[in-house]
Amino acid sequence: MRIQLLPSTFDSQGHATLEQRLTCFLIDDCVAVDAGSLALAATREQREKVRDIIVTHPHMDHIATLPIFIDDLYPTLKSPIRVYATQEVIELLERDIFNWNVYPRFSELKNDYGPVVEYVPIPAAQEFKVAHLSVTAVAVNHIVPTVGLVVSDGRRTVAFSSDTSETQEFWNIINRAPSLQALLIEASFPNSMSELAEVSRHFTPASLQQELGKLNQKDVEILAVHIKPSYRQVIIDELKALNIPGLGVMEPGRIYNW
Ligand SMILES: [Zn+2]
Ligand SMILES: [Zn+2]
Repeated sequence: MRIQLLPSTFDSQGHATLEQRLTCFLIDDCVAVDAGSLALAATREQREKVRDIIVTHPHMDHIATLPIFIDDLYPTLKSPIRVYATQEVIELLERDIFNWNVYPRFSELKNDYGPVVEYVPIPAAQEFKVAHLSVTAVAVNHIVPTVGLVVSDGRRTVAFSSDTSETQEFWNIINRAPSLQALLIEASFPNSMSELAEVSRHFTPASLQQELGKLNQKDVEILAVHIKPSYRQVIIDELKALNIPGLGVMEPGRIYNW
């Protein structure tokens, strides 16, 4: 499985930098997990291929360019873009984003070929298909309805925590997953901001360390993501100081193969 965390910040020359402000992972260049930076950072080839987008929750850093991505492709789509999310999240997207005020309600619009968006409600803790992948979504503990994902291409499995704090069912599911190669897990705030992390339901390196005690799988690459750019170096230093084997930091833009 080929996974890229799309960049969301660029330097004065237009080159991607390591700060992650938005969340969008591309799997095998065709399935997106969240769409924070999708319309900004996808290459022309990726833009042509991505027709399946899983939305873990409706926070802006995860959906910022979802409307723009659909808008860009609107005239040329020969089949609808499929947006996978829990029913609750679909309703929030329709109410708060695609409401004719913030952006058009694409689910009611058609181009010359037909509908441009199709919502696919995802079941909780039950496997469903997205393109060539099998996905299980599980509710995690964030401030709005949010799912973590366990994704398999039939040979390898990768888990995405999305935004969460202390949780349980996610671990029950990933501990049972066959061939788990990697866990992409959030580490949003430095240890000094544990109170804010708690109320906004995110991890610090210290709370992440405790949480990783629930992982019963061996030889899993653990990559921290969703590191708040203003505290990036402090968080990375605190993660390193944990000395957890297999724990690293995911680099936006880099292609990981598992
Ligand atoms: Zn969030
Ligand atoms: Zn977020």
